[in-house]
Amino acid sequence: MSMPKLLLATNNHAKVEEYTRLLLGIPYTIVNLADVGIEIIVDETGATFEENAALKAKTYANLSKLLTMADDSGLEVDVLGGQPGVLSARYAGEKATDKERIDFLLAKLRDTPWEKRTARFKCIIAIASSEEEVELFTGECQGIIAFKPSGEKGFGYDPIFYLPQLGKTMAELSMDEKNEISHRGQAVIKARRILE
Ligand code: IMP
Repeated sequence: MSMPKLLLATNNHAKVEEYTRLLLGIPYTIVNLADVGIEIIVDETGATFEENAALKAKTYANLSKLLTMADDSGLEVDVLGGQPGVLSARYAGEKATDKERIDFLLAKLRDTPWEKRTARFKCIIAIASSEEEVELFTGECQGIIAFKPSGEKGFGYDPIFYLPQLGKTMAELSMDEKNEISHRGQAVIKARRILE
């Protein structure tokens, strides 16, 4: 018997790779936006991760008529009052690269001592049915913004996100190691409860 489809609604290639691994074994066939011929990009106009995740999941569920999973995620730095937050992808400008965003953030924290560089990654997963009913699942991962980048793996702010308990940045972890502790991994543990 064929399994029902779950639309994984993200255009971020690195996230697709992480989610594909994190969602192994769920009783759905995962399809992506290209598989269902959807090219529309939903603007993240919400003021919170929750609003953006729900907006994306509902819009793509409505377009595809499939059970749809979308997320919104980002970095909150305490000394910056939670910035970049929902603006994490656009920090340092719309077209900036990961390296430019990292340099921009490090410049803002140039005079901030180690003990004040606390931060967290947050991920909100939204799962919407084709009737646009939405459920939200939250994951968090605490860390410290390092003084300089280290590591080549992962994406985004991973090279400056230092995990004191591991003595490494997120970009020094394998994907499986990252998934075990990451905000996305924590949110998936909760989302699995309804998917299973
Ligand atoms: P969005 O969830 O697609 O809106 O993107 C959020 C942005 O937050 C990404 O473009 C990254 O800059 C950052 N971000 C989210 N999750 C991670 C992560 O796991 N590692 C590093 N950066 C991340």
